This record gives sequence, C-alpha cells and structure tokens, in this order.
Amino acid sequence: MRSPEAIKRAVLGFGMVNAEVLMGRVEKRITCPYCGEVITVLIDVSVSEQYYTEDCSVCCQPIALDVVVDETEAIEVYARQENE
Ligand SMILES: [Zn+2]
Repeated sequence: MRSPEAIKRAVLGFGMVNAEVLMGRVEKRITCPYCGEVITVLIDVSVSEQYYTEDCSVCCQPIALDVVVDETEAIEVYARQENE
C-alpha cells in the first residue's frame, strides 16, 4: 500500500506539478490524439500496467491509454488513437 504522500512526492519528482493525488488516483493531463485538446484523466496508481480506453471529453472519440507505473512510482501515460 502506497501512502498518498509517497505518491505525491513521486509525481512531483517526475515534474508533473499539476497532478493531484485523490484516493490513490492521480490526475494526469494528456493530449487528445484526435482533436489535440489537453484533457485530464484519473490514473489508478495501484496497478503497475494498464490499458484502457477513455472517451475524449471534448470530441468524444475513444482514446487508447497505455499506463505504466514503475517501481519508483513514476507514471507514464501514452495516448493514441484506438484504431492504430
Ligand atoms: Zn478529443
């Protein structure tokens, strides 16, 4: 079980000053691969690797998200078009 403070330190150390820790979830900003708008997604940091789709809140198209949380709790999010 990771403490919220540990997660927050890891996130801040990774340069994501806009990230917030909310109940084991971290807000990350991604750029929509369809419309180019920056949107916020909530990442569950208790899962080290995950893949899911989330509809863009601006253009409503399905964004494929690959999320990797490494052993130092740095979070990387890759956003791409679902059909690629
Ligand atoms: Zn979009």
